[in-house]
Amino acid sequence: MLQMKLCGDLVLREKCAPITEITPDVLDILDEMVGMMRDQNGVGLAAPQVGYLKRFLVMMNPDDETVFKMINPKIITRSTEQCTMEEGCLSVLGHDNLPVYANVTRPASVEVEWMNEHGEQLRAQMAGLPARIVQHETDHLDGILFIDYLSPVRREMVMRKVRKRK
Ligand SMILES: [Zn+2]
Repeated sequence: MLQMKLCGDLVLREKCAPITEITPDVLDILDEMVGMMRDQNGVGLAAPQVGYLKRFLVMMNPDDETVFKMINPKIITRSTEQCTMEEGCLSVLGHDNLPVYANVTRPASVEVEWMNEHGEQLRAQMAGLPARIVQHETDHLDGILFIDYLSPVRREMVMRKVRKRK
């Protein structure tokens, strides 16, 4: 049973190592992560959020509910066009145990390369919500949280809610 790591846990601030072999363990964890993401009504979950400092993540395209299991995902190109959307994170919870949301500005579309659970190398252009989610989740693999993009004032507003949980 995997446990969700929450904001303040240093495991969320580490840079993750690439996966060199897709072991049965990795496949089991990916499956469990999909279950956890669904249970918590999330659209993405990265390995360090469940305590693994490895480069893999799961995400869902909310438009058609397609689930992606991404191993060693990498953002190849980012659009110069930016957009602002509300983001939350299953590791950044407020006093009601629900994610705290804030507006974040990021590139509007990205090109992503990853390996799927069968070891196939894939590449896709993503825009809209999937682009947003894949950027948020790949950031986790480098120890970056969405709150890092906020102004000090906005960030403090989020952190005040997070501290109320404790
Ligand atoms: Zn997150």
